[in-house]
Amino acid sequence: IIEVTDLKKSYGALEVLKRITLDINKNEVVAIIGPSGSGKSTLLRSLIHLEEISAGTIRIAGDDLVRNGVYAKPQYIKRITSRMGMVFQHFNLFPHLKVLENLELAPRLAKQGSPAELRDRSRELMHKIGLTERAEAYPANLSGGQKQRVAIARALMLNPEILLFDEPTSALDPELTGEVLEVMKQLAKEQMTMIVVTHEMGFAREVADRVIFMDQGEIIESGTPEQLFMNPVMDRTKAFLQRSY
Ligand code: ATP
Ligand code: MG
Repeated sequence: IIEVTDLKKSYGALEVLKRITLDINKNEVVAIIGPSGSGKSTLLRSLIHLEEISAGTIRIAGDDLVRNGVYAKPQYIKRITSRMGMVFQHFNLFPHLKVLENLELAPRLAKQGSPAELRDRSRELMHKIGLTERAEAYPANLSGGQKQRVAIARALMLNPEILLFDEPTSALDPELTGEVLEVMKQLAKEQMTMIVVTHEMGFAREVADRVIFMDQGEIIESGTPEQLFMNPVMDRTKAFLQRSY
């Protein structure tokens, strides 16, 4: 459902992504691991057009977001990227809006459904993430884990086919990561296509169909969790995994 071919991204003279080629299948859960600065966030942000790449091709569900470095027209870009939702490390909820209003804002602006329909959907998603009773709260009055669950629900409001997560638990106290990982596991079980940049090796091992190790802007190695964690082939992967445990 995502096809990336020879993607390159530079900031000035700094080559941040070097010839990335990567296919993600529908319903697949892919974990991306790798050291700080290896380009994980840049890759994820490029897929949803928060960054523009320098060269290469990105196809989403058969449509070219960018082909050989040339981007689609803005109205197509919008339609193509609307198949994806993204969850960030720092939640990015709107502090002046109640939780339900945070969920309904984007679909309301996109004129997707009547207010009543949006309210039904937002209530349903609050139930899904186990926060029915906090619907009228402001983000400031939620725990970090609750905020991140709301951020996931907000991403789901637009009915994405693909969810991108950039270190969704890295800003949380350790005791709050579990509740967020549970929601993500549930989504994986429901066959959501997910790409998760994560330091949670346990989650990658348990939930991911495939784990990708990146270093210095390249995909060094990719495989099932068993292959990558138990029998890494590349020295750089071995060294990284030794440091991470
Ligand atoms: P981390 O694990 O710390 O989040 P990462 O793997 O997500 O790291 P990126 O954030 O993608 O890494 O950054 C890759 C490289 O690109 C880094 O060297 C970073 O300094 C550089 N970089 C990222 N954004 C910019 C920018 N806007 N301008 C210049 N350089 C940038
Ligand atoms: Mg990052």
